[in-house]
Amino acid sequence: MAVNTDELYDVIIVGTGFAGVYGLHKMRESGFRVMAVEAGDSVGGCWYWNRYPGLRCDVDSLEYAYAFSDELQQEWRWSERYAPQSEILGYIQFAARKLDLEKDILFNTRIASARFDNGSGIWTLTSENGDTMRAHYVVMATGCLSIPNKPDIPGIGDFEGEIVHSVQWPEGHLDLADKNVAVIGTGSTGVQMIPLLAREAKHLTVVQRTPAFAVPARNQPWNDARIEYWRQNFRELREAAKNTRAGVLHEYGLLPSAAVRPEDRIADLERRWIKGGPNVLYGFSDLLVNEETNNLVSDFLRGKIADAVDNPETAKKLMPYEYPVGTKRVCVGTDYYETYNRDNVSLIDLRTEKLQQIEKDGIRTDAGFYPVDVLVMATGYDAITGALLAIDITTTAGKSLREEWGKGPETYMGYGIAGIPNLFAVTGPGSPSVFSNMVLSVEHDMDWISACIAHLKERDFATIEADPAAQAAWMEHVDAVASLTLVNKAASWYRGANVEGKPQKFMPYVGGVNTYQKRCWEIARNGYEGFLINGKPETSPARKEEMAHS
Ligand code: NAP
Repeated sequence: MAVNTDELYDVIIVGTGFAGVYGLHKMRESGFRVMAVEAGDSVGGCWYWNRYPGLRCDVDSLEYAYAFSDELQQEWRWSERYAPQSEILGYIQFAARKLDLEKDILFNTRIASARFDNGSGIWTLTSENGDTMRAHYVVMATGCLSIPNKPDIPGIGDFEGEIVHSVQWPEGHLDLADKNVAVIGTGSTGVQMIPLLAREAKHLTVVQRTPAFAVPARNQPWNDARIEYWRQNFRELREAAKNTRAGVLHEYGLLPSAAVRPEDRIADLERRWIKGGPNVLYGFSDLLVNEETNNLVSDFLRGKIADAVDNPETAKKLMPYEYPVGTKRVCVGTDYYETYNRDNVSLIDLRTEKLQQIEKDGIRTDAGFYPVDVLVMATGYDAITGALLAIDITTTAGKSLREEWGKGPETYMGYGIAGIPNLFAVTGPGSPSVFSNMVLSVEHDMDWISACIAHLKERDFATIEADPAAQAAWMEHVDAVASLTLVNKAASWYRGANVEGKPQKFMPYVGGVNTYQKRCWEIARNGYEGFLINGKPETSPARKEEMAHS
């Protein structure tokens, strides 16, 4: 049965990545009339849109998976430590089929605007095609990394070859043999694709504005013993992850570097380096708050670049000095630095070589001309706020959210926005979001939002919205926690610094998943303190009973 857009829903979920898929299941289980709307023709979110060569997740696949269902866990077998995109997409599709969700999803429909009617308390969502749908509550599961950042680089409009953005990689094989390829961008995406493109292209030119810290993934197939261990201990392991600051079972060093003997510090970093993945970042408890510790780890990683790259000049260009390690996302890759030892790879380091313009057949810098047939933009995303602001949302006072967030986003706990009733953001700004295991965080947020909606419905409340005072206090806290760390020292996408004209403000909450989740449920237990709840509570039998016993 197809979605009926004439129906008045309790909840509409926008987006069906990891968040929307679980949210649809959860809200259906909670007894709500719920539908989801999706721009693509499949569930999957960023794992549906992104399909560039080399794309994998940089969280262990056993942890980058739903925690709510033993059944899903038992039936799905991850093949590798860092699952490739096709497998992650397959997993989300498997979950949607297993939970019979697709019948409640309106595919190929991108929402353009959302309007709340104060009188009726009903949201109307309108798609780019003019379709409308209505609900009492809207849940924005639109993702933190879904709107591509397409910088206006001088001359790019004159380029006559093919331009491919990593987020919009063409389906099927893109033939790069005999082509001069250039990649702009050396974040996680660039670091993953560069080694593979270098193997395929005639020549690869990498344009680097800021070097990344990249660590080796040391990806490998899971062995049966590991899979079995997870099957046996699934519930305990996932619960344990929730009590960590990142929502991932890293081996967290509990001591600051100063409390560890100098020779043991390096030995531990070496051991973690060999283990692979981001392990090397978790050796000391104070990496993100202590510059000395940070320098120690940064120097260690720069030393690894010197070891891997044959040409010392190139190695130097690849070394980041302008930000503390961990304040921009550390990239997990395979053979990234070694790729620069190939004869068919050139590096344009924009710190030492000035970009003049892109021309019809290449890139011109003050040091020369680089012929290009295919230009790959690995330039990232308008992150965290991009997808929310792509939808025209207005406050009850008639102000647009874009205007409201002109100086940077403000939310209460990442979920609520003052002046916008009955709309919830999932992993919104002011929540741990991209500073956490996203799958664990989206599941948590959907649990919380659905408990909140159940609370309102049971009591016949009409509207909920963030109290401006609580919102201001929470954002102050988010800023204060960020200021205790080094995160503001980087021009990162966490701060909106990668997008021309975007207000700069550190957006994720860095106080830890454990602290954040605890606070969320305290708020719920305290009757959703910090939210303004309106309606006619006396009409609800549940509320009447509650009042009689109070
Ligand atoms: P990103 O980290 O924002 O990197 C974009 C790159 O493009 C940066 O090197 C940036 O330089 C460069 N750039 C942007 N505008 C430019 C311009 N006008 N001129 C020259 N260079 C420019 O984006 P991303 O690599 O797509 O990754 C974004 C996030 O997605 C990651 O941090 C991660 O959270 C997630 N991701 C995860 C995985 C994974 O799980 N392995 C894979 C891919 C992405 P600056 O640094 O100077 O801004």
